[in-house]
Amino acid sequence: MTRAVVSLNSGSSSIKFALFRLDEAGTPIHAAGGKIEGIGTAPRIVARADDGSIAWEQQWPDTGMTHEALLHELFDWAVGHLGDNKVVAIGHRVVHGGMTFAKPVRIDDALMEALEALCPLAPLHQPHNLAAIRAIAKLAPHLPQVACFDTAFHHDMPIVAARMALPRAMAERGYRRYGFHGLSYEYIARHLRMVDPNLAKGRVITAHLGNGASMCAMHDCRSIDSTMGFTALDGLMMGTRTGSLDPGVVVHLVEQEGMTGPEIEKLLYRQSGLLGVSGISSDMRELHASDDPHAKEAIELFAWRAARHAAALMTGLRGLDGLVFTAGIGENDPIIRAMICERLEWTGITLDPEANARNAPVISTADSRITVRVIPTDEEQMIALHSIATLNLAQGVPA
Ligand code: ADP
Repeated sequence: MTRAVVSLNSGSSSIKFALFRLDEAGTPIHAAGGKIEGIGTAPRIVARADDGSIAWEQQWPDTGMTHEALLHELFDWAVGHLGDNKVVAIGHRVVHGGMTFAKPVRIDDALMEALEALCPLAPLHQPHNLAAIRAIAKLAPHLPQVACFDTAFHHDMPIVAARMALPRAMAERGYRRYGFHGLSYEYIARHLRMVDPNLAKGRVITAHLGNGASMCAMHDCRSIDSTMGFTALDGLMMGTRTGSLDPGVVVHLVEQEGMTGPEIEKLLYRQSGLLGVSGISSDMRELHASDDPHAKEAIELFAWRAARHAAALMTGLRGLDGLVFTAGIGENDPIIRAMICERLEWTGITLDPEANARNAPVISTADSRITVRVIPTDEEQMIALHSIATLNLAQGVPA
């Protein structure tokens, strides 16, 4: 019997998952993966085996299917799909590790208590991450679970990048810039070390452009700054989130419009960004397909703001050697990449239009001063690798 690890990334309306078989050395081999979407409305799942074939597809008409019930179904399916491969660990993406957690940790009751206390810092993500851990603990109480933090990669970023210009005592209460998407950046850093070790040692900006979007400035594969800050709302314009916003707007909304906290939260997290500006969709593909001028304006604002943030990160890096695009938009959208790179041409970027059009691994010209790469991210693999390391599974030590 061989061993297997399951990675879970549980959000408010979706659960992403991946199954990995472990070879004898404890290296994770991807076996299947997919996503449950539409939780709370009409949940549906598509899971694909490693050859791309559909391994499980189902739709539940019942809006009463809770996260817990869906995780139960997923767990049963995963165990069945893995057959002789025994699940020995479940790794979770946990958005917030606060000031304490700089690396993944095996989950126990004390850890759960500490992570609960961080929920107010990530109210839209953390509770769902923790609910998934609890649901699995109920299903399989003896199965080791590992928390992998999105903030951990940024834990040691320089104090000047982490500090907010608020009264000093507030920093001790946790008011600092944390940075997110850390599992994605860690995967990119790891991949870059393998495919382009020289560039990996240099000054690189990685642009994670998905529904959530951020950038990370890396030097020698370490985070030295991030566009996301105290929450995952800061920085780039996103699918439905504002990104950086004059804080005076929030004061004005409270004082002049009488808006409540939950109303403002909804506005900033769910009704803004590409969706808010276009009035059409948060999905970049739909915006490209539309001939509405508001769609065009939303796309232009997205690219303009991304380029502006990249330029700001270059200051922290004191220059730039490489730019990496990743996540849904970053990996698949040559138009957005070209718009961002065009605005950054003055830095020494020369894009190769043909390579860009086919999402090639390197999309800059041979004589471009800055290397521009496209690297598909894989947060689930990073979670599996962390779970294996945290539980010493590679050494064959029983978990
Ligand atoms: P999440 O943050 O939910 O993981 P993804 O990384 O899947 O999001 O990114 C979703 C975004 O990627 C959407 O805006 C979607 O339109 C965009 N996207 C996915 N594929 C393409 C494509 N082929 N061309 C342009 N945009 C794409």
